[in-house]
Amino acid sequence: MKDYEIVIGLEVHVELATNSKIFCSCSAKFGGEQNEHVCPACCGMPGMLPVVNRRVVDLGMTAGMMLGCHINRTTTFDKKSYYYPDLPGSYQTTQWFAPVAVNGTVEIETSKGKKAIRIKQIHMEEDAGKLVHDDWTDTTLVDFNRTSVPLIEIVSQPDLSSAEEVVAYLERLRSLLRFAKVSECRMEQGSMRCDVNLSVRPVGQKEYGVRTEMKNMNSISAIERAIAYESARHIDAIENGTEELVQETRRWDDIKGKSFAMRNKETAGDYRYFPDPNVMPVVIDDAWFDTIRDSLPEFPEVKRVRYIEELGLGEYDADMLVESRAFCDAFEAAYAESGLAKESANWLITNCMNLLNRRQMTTDMLSINGKALGVLVKIVADGTVSHANGKKILEVMFDEDIDPKKYAEENGYIVSNDTGKIVEVVRAVIAADPKSVADYKSGKEKALMALFGKCMKELKGNCDPQLLRATILENL
Ligand code: ZN
Ligand code: MN
Repeated sequence: MKDYEIVIGLEVHVELATNSKIFCSCSAKFGGEQNEHVCPACCGMPGMLPVVNRRVVDLGMTAGMMLGCHINRTTTFDKKSYYYPDLPGSYQTTQWFAPVAVNGTVEIETSKGKKAIRIKQIHMEEDAGKLVHDDWTDTTLVDFNRTSVPLIEIVSQPDLSSAEEVVAYLERLRSLLRFAKVSECRMEQGSMRCDVNLSVRPVGQKEYGVRTEMKNMNSISAIERAIAYESARHIDAIENGTEELVQETRRWDDIKGKSFAMRNKETAGDYRYFPDPNVMPVVIDDAWFDTIRDSLPEFPEVKRVRYIEELGLGEYDADMLVESRAFCDAFEAAYAESGLAKESANWLITNCMNLLNRRQMTTDMLSINGKALGVLVKIVADGTVSHANGKKILEVMFDEDIDPKKYAEENGYIVSNDTGKIVEVVRAVIAADPKSVADYKSGKEKALMALFGKCMKELKGNCDPQLLRATILENL
């Protein structure tokens, strides 16, 4: 068998984090009752004129800049005509002739080292609706909530040559777009969708092989499986003549572990692209361009190096933080307030993470006041509040924007340095529990813990554990 090379280009659709749809003021939020977020404009009524959502252009430019693209300062919308019941106007408004961003690069790293993947273009467009099949009545219903929800489509050049590279590329895109708050990029919710264009050719051959496009993968691992299956299918067809390869769109079935022909590949001509006369060209002036450029976040790997080299964090802590923009923002604010890098990172990675897990939230959903977190870090580190009580305060901070120090004072969480009070509590507990005292004196170490626990409870946790232990021992 010859050696084959796999050639992959990706089209990645990303739902933008906007409140409203791309050409009307309907909500763009996921969910809701069927056809709740619908108006005449987004369900294709004749005579309704679209108005471009400025925020969509902001995010399109942001994505373009994050991926090193050239921004087209005059960007226009076009009609892509096709018929499908989830597309009420029978055309999709997208960008064909002057997309918002072109010619970028994304650098990826795999076991084979670094590689630059070229981005052909990023265009803004509207999503289609959703068909819902009702088995009970054997009918198909259409839900237009998703119609006109804003998307960007990121089109790569065919520079990828393995599933590993595709995974690295997608993870890199997701990280950059989340960091820039362009999208949450959640594959399982469909806010990031990836179409894989794949062909194979013998190593050394210049011409590309027959290309197929695969859809319907809803996780990174499904994409890996789909690439492994599809490339093997192509090679088998070429080597053994098992089937004739045709250019087509295929649907990945992750349960069967196979791809199935869906429709013959349309060419651009089939879509009859032409400028949409209803949508004004968008002209991006210098002020707008500069505002977006100045708002770009520091890249995650730059942060990572800074956290390690300047703030002295360990690699593990730095890696954990740069997974999420929300964590980075909270960390930086907490550090600015407390001056304690390691402790601030710890509170986030351990305690905040625990709380998020318990509430089944992702790291991106953290919405804590970072400055207040810094105050908490400080008052626990200097012994004003015990660690256990600090955790209780943190939980309140998840729901309310409180001043942790004030809250600690008002709720009796300040560690007491009043040794008189500690001695008083210790003596009272000892007097009331002769059994534990006797047990301890007959050699049962555990009895000391019982006394310790009772004293700590009496003191509401506001006592230095070392001091308490020493005081109990003195009084026994
Ligand atoms: Zn609408
Ligand atoms: Mn598209």
